[in-house]
Amino acid sequence: MKRELTCIICPRGCSLQVDIQGDQVKVSGNACPKGATYGHDECLHPARTVTSIVRVSNREDTRVSVKTVAPIPKENIFDLMEIIRAASVQAPVAIGDVICKNVYGTDVIATKAID
Ligand code: SF4
Repeated sequence: MKRELTCIICPRGCSLQVDIQGDQVKVSGNACPKGATYGHDECLHPARTVTSIVRVSNREDTRVSVKTVAPIPKENIFDLMEIIRAASVQAPVAIGDVICKNVYGTDVIATKAID
């Protein structure tokens, strides 16, 4: 099977051609090794860093922005969003505070401080 991808690792956005034969993946069109790794992983184990917001329970109409520390498998994104939607945190919040621990192999952390 052949796939066409755009590498999203840097702004250059190389057009990748990926030839998939079972678990063998051959990537071309990449200007650097990162593109080969991206093409391989995107075809065999696609994952994304997830960003969202979490309710701050002791501040009216306040949310804190959050993100996963590491990418998670794409098939788990909707389930993670349900976990994040149900979560809340109490201020004060510091950047890097763990909001959801050990979900799909990573943590969800705050990316904004709330005094
Ligand atoms: S292959 Fe390398 S140069 Fe091209 S977009 Fe990806 S990271 Fe950037």
